[in-house]
Amino acid sequence: MDEACAHEQDRADDLGRLREAFCFPYASGKDGETLLYFCGNSLGLQPVGVASAIEQELQKWSSQAVEGHFMPPEPWFRYHELLRDGMASLVGAMPHEVVVMNSLTVNLHLLMISFYRPTSARYKIVIEEGAFPSDRYAVGSQARLHGYAPEEAVLRWSPRAGEDLLRIEDLADILDKQGDQIALLMLGGVHFYTGQWLAMREIVKMGHAAGCLVGFDLAHAAGNVPLSLHDWDVDFAAWCSYKYINSGPGGVAAAFVHEKHTQDPSLLRLAGWWGNDPDKRFAMEESFVPVASADAWQLSNAPILSMAALRASLDVFAQASMEALRDKSVRLTGYLEFLLEQMPASSYTQITPKDPNQRGAQLSIRVHTGARDLQQKLQEAGVICDVRRDVIRVAPAPLYNRFHDVWHIVQILRGILHGS
Ligand SMILES: *Cc1c(COP(=O)(O)O)cnc(C)c1O
Repeated sequence: MDEACAHEQDRADDLGRLREAFCFPYASGKDGETLLYFCGNSLGLQPVGVASAIEQELQKWSSQAVEGHFMPPEPWFRYHELLRDGMASLVGAMPHEVVVMNSLTVNLHLLMISFYRPTSARYKIVIEEGAFPSDRYAVGSQARLHGYAPEEAVLRWSPRAGEDLLRIEDLADILDKQGDQIALLMLGGVHFYTGQWLAMREIVKMGHAAGCLVGFDLAHAAGNVPLSLHDWDVDFAAWCSYKYINSGPGGVAAAFVHEKHTQDPSLLRLAGWWGNDPDKRFAMEESFVPVASADAWQLSNAPILSMAALRASLDVFAQASMEALRDKSVRLTGYLEFLLEQMPASSYTQITPKDPNQRGAQLSIRVHTGARDLQQKLQEAGVICDVRRDVIRVAPAPLYNRFHDVWHIVQILRGILHGS
């Protein structure tokens, strides 16, 4: 397919207008030229509206100081509530099942405090082999917190020898053999490295049938693939907002707790004043009365500046439906796959599943030739994407990447790998 075809697809793209809502990094030394950005799975681009959203809070702070907690516009006391609906709609949750707070790994721990309650009979946790290191550390240390050795308590769901992807039959097998000892399945919805999107709904069903709770890390899924956390009966989930959700470095994260659990007053959770009933928050009473929503997991008062950035980002998402975004994403990533397939098959292996229903925006590509200089050459060509040894992860983000960007990066890759 030629360049004209890429342009043609961009012209027909209704979401193309949203590209203007983002700031693109510039190539150094090249006058005004922007970089080809394919790293939205690592750090999303800055929405143009972020600066004024933060400026508004700085103004409020300078002019109202402590009164800003209760004075309009948008009192800080309830600021996190402004993010609830937008975030809930991205993950298919009821608004009261979602809270924006802390960072991702912190939220995983807070949720496991509530949902990993091992007993002598049921104390194991299943994670996927090659899970993001932070998740492995979190799960391992939770096991230790309860007196179990991670080597014994943490089970790995692994790809078969010589394969990269996880097979659901193998999870079924683990559950068949050890299900009655497993307390929790704690899995990545979309795998950060391979880009594999797990069959989340099916996994929840399998886990529950075996008597386990099921939680997901949605770092690479939220804002990327359509999710229905409530309907799928997911017990809990956590995700960061700085990847596909574009809230900025270290941006405030989110958590989901299914309503069947938020209504359970007996559930153990670590408590702080922001999880208390808002009407009692400033009463400084002895007793803790958890809000009957995911808000009950909040500990501290909210990081307003970070939340202002997230708010500006959610405003961009509000201009497109998740269905439209997903539709473009499937076509954009499909186009990337199609163009790569025009390269000699001997030059690369696509690790990410071929089936669009088993992946989001990202394709992970293992190159067979030229891996050594790949990163440097991509950089010189003005491309930003993630390179780990011989695997590159290319993530066209439907909010701001064009079909032409996809055409362009494949031209560059072809040049690097084949000199043509
Ligand atoms: C990005 C990512 C993290 C990062 O965790 P932080 O607590 O936000 O630093 C953790 N887990 C997964 C799966 C990720 O993709």
